[in-house]
Amino acid sequence: MFIHQIPSLIPKVFPKLTWKMDNEINSKEVYFTFDDGPTPEITNFVLECLAKYDAKATFFCIGNNMVANAELVRKISAEGHAIGNHTMNHANAWKYTRENYETDYLACKEVMDRFNITSAGFRPPYGRVNTYIYNHITEIEPVYMWSYLSGDYNADLTTQSIIRSAKIGIHPGGILVFHDSIKAFPRLKVILPELLDYCQSENISMKAL
Ligand SMILES: [Zn+2]
Repeated sequence: MFIHQIPSLIPKVFPKLTWKMDNEINSKEVYFTFDDGPTPEITNFVLECLAKYDAKATFFCIGNNMVANAELVRKISAEGHAIGNHTMNHANAWKYTRENYETDYLACKEVMDRFNITSAGFRPPYGRVNTYIYNHITEIEPVYMWSYLSGDYNADLTTQSIIRSAKIGIHPGGILVFHDSIKAFPRLKVILPELLDYCQSENISMKAL
């Protein structure tokens, strides 16, 4: 079974990571986030969907993809969305040494600096955290995990089951994870318009982190 929602114990064990936003009690805001781009065609599709619903979102970009798709980076920014660091090479915190991880994190930061982008925060690839992230990156910028993982990259999930789980998992202050990647696109292209439509019909606004 795919776990879409983070078990409530986990944020208590890792309080320095951000799992959801603390909004005003009555506010209805959620935070759509898109990892692993920018990707030609797919990021454009996401931007078009967001614009249609007047939604803002956060893109946790891979440094190498930003270098390869500079126009898309500028477009994401110009349309009022936030961009965060997702490392230069999609670094795996459980396999990289501390030094190599730091190098990869800083290389992505440098790319963002060249674009004049202020990072919205860091999202560790695969959601994998090491002591460097937990003790050092959290001192530099927020490290955003999530409250709801769509699993859009998982070909074993049906779009209907993802949509069902999302409607249960969308709460005020929630941070939702999607991917503007080729792997996720077969599901993303179905679930994203439906979920944006759902949020709009529930008067939930979609904000950037
Ligand atoms: Zn990723």
